[in-house]
Amino acid sequence: MSDIAYVNGAYLPLAEARVSILDRGFLFADGVYEVAAIIEGRLVDNDSHLSRLENSLRELRIANAPAIQTIADIETELVARNEVNEGLVYLQITRGAAGDRDFGFPRGTAPTIVAFAQKKNIIASPAAQTGVKILTVPDLRWARRDIKTIALLAQVLAKQAALDAGCQEAWMVDRHGLVTEGSSSTAFILTKADVIVTRPNSPAILPGCTRKAVQTLAAREKLTIEERCFSVTEAYEAKEAFLTSASNLVLPVVEIDGRPIGSGAPGDKTRLLRTLYLEWAMNPDATG
Ligand code: PMP
Repeated sequence: MSDIAYVNGAYLPLAEARVSILDRGFLFADGVYEVAAIIEGRLVDNDSHLSRLENSLRELRIANAPAIQTIADIETELVARNEVNEGLVYLQITRGAAGDRDFGFPRGTAPTIVAFAQKKNIIASPAAQTGVKILTVPDLRWARRDIKTIALLAQVLAKQAALDAGCQEAWMVDRHGLVTEGSSSTAFILTKADVIVTRPNSPAILPGCTRKAVQTLAAREKLTIEERCFSVTEAYEAKEAFLTSASNLVLPVVEIDGRPIGSGAPGDKTRLLRTLYLEWAMNPDATG
């Protein structure tokens, strides 16, 4: 974790960055967040993250948040102050701290905005070389998973179940046996017919920013992408599997529930998509 955080207008050493215990984020998980990667000192795909943030704020009716450009400026300032060349920016907006613990929205309470930056190896991630193992778990979340709320308990439990099983990520599964998404990532498979499959956006999943960029890059490369649900059984039999997220870009999945996927090593299409994503992240304005 880098040293300087942002809290409601001030840049402070992390140890001095504080919010009230009456903050509705703390009491009710009444807030939203975004995470964007930093590569070569620049935020990756941040317009997409900020537009999802606006959507999350709108859906939860959190009013009076700073303008999106102001938020972007805060993030950029944090990257600079913390001298992060490669890593992440985390930004959270809650409905603020009213003087009480009433469920109804407070009137005239300003939202709480906190942000911090972290150094992390994004490009040279060991998991990109080895691939990750997945454990499937029931999806215990609420019905509006398209909103990026800070209510992440189901994902915390899912991730810990995966870690306890010697895996690195959990894929959550709906009551029909269909994969929704990872605890903090989007799930993809490549079928034996070389079709990349990922679940369509709906209230059942978070619309991943990395997912969207990867879809565009795959289409440019003339790879076939299909948006449809896929089952855990279909995933077991896939040629390749991978996940996407802002902090992991594109990561190969080499095992699901103890079953090797394809050859049990990172797949060629997955590697290609990771390379294409990285090229685009470092040089988003290049066309072709
Ligand atoms: N689904 C969930 C549940 C997530 O938490 C994340 C990470 N924010 C994603 C998908 C991937 O989204 P993105 O590519 O925008 O990071």
